[in-house]
Amino acid sequence: KPVVLSGIQPSGSMTIGNYIGAINQWLDMQEHSDCHFMLADLHTITVRQDPKEFKSQVLEGLAMYVACGLDPEKSTIFLQSQVPEHAQLSWLLNCYTQMGELNRMTQFKDKSNNASSSNSGLYTYPVLMAADILLYQADAVPVGDDQKQHLELARTIATRFNNIYGDVFKVPEPMIPKQGARIMSLQDPLKKMSKSDANPKAYIKLLDDPKQIAKKLKSAVTDSDEQARIYFDNAEKPGVSNLLTLLSVATKRSVADLVPEYEDKMYGHLKKDTADAVVAMIEPIQARYYELRADETELLRIMRIGADKASARAAPTLAKAYAAVGFIANN
Ligand code: ATP
Ligand code: MG
Repeated sequence: KPVVLSGIQPSGSMTIGNYIGAINQWLDMQEHSDCHFMLADLHTITVRQDPKEFKSQVLEGLAMYVACGLDPEKSTIFLQSQVPEHAQLSWLLNCYTQMGELNRMTQFKDKSNNASSSNSGLYTYPVLMAADILLYQADAVPVGDDQKQHLELARTIATRFNNIYGDVFKVPEPMIPKQGARIMSLQDPLKKMSKSDANPKAYIKLLDDPKQIAKKLKSAVTDSDEQARIYFDNAEKPGVSNLLTLLSVATKRSVADLVPEYEDKMYGHLKKDTADAVVAMIEPIQARYYELRADETELLRIMRIGADKASARAAPTLAKAYAAVGFIANN
């Protein structure tokens, strides 16, 4: 079975971008792959968190994974901070990563605004991500298009290490979904939708209620085309194209199939239909989510099993990497 690793940061409530770009892809994969789905809480503290809110965000994230259909029986579902091998391998890999490489990462540039006061965790974020992936000897890493550059770096680091010490790490392949690879912000369709966006109107959360969803889509930025024509063109019509992508994913119909139906319609129609489709897509997820949140002992049980399974898989790789560089094993 191919080994798969992926994760989401509990940096806020999950958005439909996270669902479409990540979780939705994972659902198929868990049927025929050996999947590891983590909640990347170590990554989350690269941005300051309120401890109480952070805790509840993590529980929410875990419950949301399961509510979306990730199955703790089929997959390894775990919190990154509960598997110490991640932080351990990350330090080692830092010593095999060039600053020039990190300087080129666009996510760092976006999130730090190039401020010299930004923390170094944000800077070495891609190295921790490389550790996440390499620890499990993952064959494939399903991610949204925004993480492609980080994945390339993970491949570079793995190859560099292997060239010195022999085959320690599997060099992972990216898996980027064709459709809905990147859902854009509803307020600025040139920017990707992010759960940590300061403006809540920019994203739709998986936990938003139907009214909020309709409202946010209604105020989604489109364009000033006087004829308000509806067609797919990311360059000319990024806002409208984003709505079409959402509608397409939520209805499981192709964009090409949908567009002719909007020939004589207005943006308002498209927004309304998209809202209805998104609501229908996430309603069953919300129902399962609220059920799960009512039972915290079950969540804790899932967490414990996941951390044990993950650690058992990660430990041999860490030991191999430690031995390769010449650390003395304590056994
Ligand atoms: P943050 O703003 O804190 O970075 P995020 O919404 O970007 O949050 P991440 O935890 O960074 O979410 O990413 C989790 C997964 O979701 C990754 O696989 C990423 O590629 C995917 N993803 C995030 N945003 C989008 C999006 N707008 N469209 C498609 N996929 C996305
Ligand atoms: Mg992100």
